Amino acid sequence: MEAINKIYIIWGDKCGRFPFSNSLYIDDKIKTIIDTGAGYHKYSKFNREIGLIINSHYHLDHIRYNYLFSNAEIVIHESDISAMQDLNKFAKTYGGELAFGSQWIDKWEKEISSQANKHPSQGFVYESEYFKSIGKVHNTYSSGDKVSCGNIIFEIVHTPGHSAGHCSFFFPEQNLCFATDYNVGSSFGPWYGGEDSDLGLLIQSAKKLIDLDAKYYINSHDQQIYYKKDFSTKLEEFLQVIEVRENQILELIEKGYSVKELCNEGIIYSKKYLYLEWVKIWETVMIIKHINSLEKKGILKGNGFRFEVQN
Ligand SMILES: [Zn+2]
Repeated sequence: MEAINKIYIIWGDKCGRFPFSNSLYIDDKIKTIIDTGAGYHKYSKFNREIGLIINSHYHLDHIRYNYLFSNAEIVIHESDISAMQDLNKFAKTYGGELAFGSQWIDKWEKEISSQANKHPSQGFVYESEYFKSIGKVHNTYSSGDKVSCGNIIFEIVHTPGHSAGHCSFFFPEQNLCFATDYNVGSSFGPWYGGEDSDLGLLIQSAKKLIDLDAKYYINSHDQQIYYKKDFSTKLEEFLQVIEVRENQILELIEKGYSVKELCNEGIIYSKKYLYLEWVKIWETVMIIKHINSLEKKGILKGNGFRFEVQN
C-alpha cells in the first residue's frame, strides 16, 4: 500500500472507477478507514481491527463495504445521515423520486429487498449485495470537527454540493488533503445528480480545498497523488465541464428541445448507458439542476416542459 506518514491509500478496484472508490486506512490507536468502496477483498486483512469508519458521503461507491466491518463505529456528516437510514430515503436523496417519482422507488425497494435480481440486464441497480450497507450507520460528525485516531488528527472539511453532507479531509501533519469526489483527473467532470446536490455550492466548496495548507491531494477515483499546483489547475478544468454542459443545454433549448428530449440526448452520460435506470435518474436530475440554475440566473424562462432562452 502506498503511504504518506502512516496514512495508507487503498486504491479502488477497476482503477477506482464507479461503483468502486479509493479508501484511506489510518494505522493508529483507533484503526480507521475513510470510505469503503475499494473492493471486497481489499479489506480482508484488517476488517476485524477497524474501530472507526468515516464515510465522506452517502453515495453507493463510498459506503459499499461498510457492512464488512462488524466492530467499527460508522460515522457520516449530519446532513447525509438521513439518506443512509433506509433504502427508500437513500433512493429518494440519490435522485430517484425527482426523476421517476415515488412509485418507482417503492417498486425498486421491493425488488431490491427480495433475494432474486429480477432485472439482471440492469447490473448493480437491482443487486441487493450493493445496498447491504444502507441502514447501518451509528453516528454523525459536523463541519469543522477534528477527528483523533490517537496520534493522527484530521479535520473534516465540509464541501457540500455533490451531496448535502459531502466532506473532504485534511491531515495537517501529513500536508495531505483527501478531496474525495473532486475527481479532477476524469474527463466526466463534476457530478450533481442527487436531489440534495447543489451546483452553486459544488463550485464554492472547490475553493475551500485550494485554501487548505496542503501539499498533496488525492481523491476518490483517480489513482495518483497530485501536488497542489497540479490539483489546482486540474480543478479549474474539472469545473469548466459544468459550463460546457450548460452551453450544450442552452443550444438544444434554442432548437426547441423539451426537458424530456434533453434527458434522452446523452448530455452528461454517454447515450448508450441511459438504459440503466440509475444512470437515467442522474442524467435527468443533473439536467434539472442546470435548468434550475439557468432560471435562477434569469437566462431561461419556461413552463416546466418547454423553455425559452431570454436575451
Ligand atoms: Zn459521490
